[in-house]
Amino acid sequence: MKLGIFGGTFDPVHYGHLMLAETCRQQLALDEVRFVPAGNPPHKSGKLADAHARADMVQLAVSGYPEYVVDRREIRRQGPSWTVLTLEELQIERPECELFFLMGADSLADFQMWREPERIVEMSTVVAVNRPGIPLASLAECRQNVGSLNPDRFRFLSMPGADISATDLRERVRRRQSLRFLTPRAVERFLTEHNLYRQTTEKPG
Ligand code: ATP
Repeated sequence: MKLGIFGGTFDPVHYGHLMLAETCRQQLALDEVRFVPAGNPPHKSGKLADAHARADMVQLAVSGYPEYVVDRREIRRQGPSWTVLTLEELQIERPECELFFLMGADSLADFQMWREPERIVEMSTVVAVNRPGIPLASLAECRQNVGSLNPDRFRFLSMPGADISATDLRERVRRRQSLRFLTPRAVERFLTEHNLYRQTTEKPG
């Protein structure tokens, strides 16, 4: 069985994330994709929306698609959301599964700074997908950046680019602009009902 693991802050989830997941599911014939919202992400600074609210929004976004699962382990875990720990746990829980760790090209660019990247590529195939601003051509450069890591453990996939970011969605909420067609409708409603991103100041970096 092939299991995709997709970590992120999902603050909030949007169609860029969903397209990435679906591209990987289809092109790699994944049986399941687990969205793993970070509780306390070591790579991001600034204040995030409540972790369970972020996970609830992912749940709403993927509801009705049985191959997509929301996994809250990084929210329950104390301390930083290290990917390497998540993969170690999944390897033990699902020994029958081949693991694929999914990410956008921007995440790949700083992958070597993550905790124990060698262990991550030992346990999973790292799958990087293009993102507007970071075209697939520069993925080849990212490939050079993997340095001492085994290049055979990386896959590069391309999808129709969606120039969507959670930063832009938060900004739109503050400006009272529409989020229509940038994220599923249920997520839009959740944001409104929970009054998310209205007053907060944008996180730095
Ligand atoms: P923010 O704007 O708050 O930094 P984000 O939109 O980049 O957030 P994250 O939750 O940080 O979303 O991203 C999780 C993963 O999804 C990362 O690996 C990121 O590269 C990838 N990703 C996010 N948006 C896109 C997109 N539009 N296209 C491709 N990959 C994306």
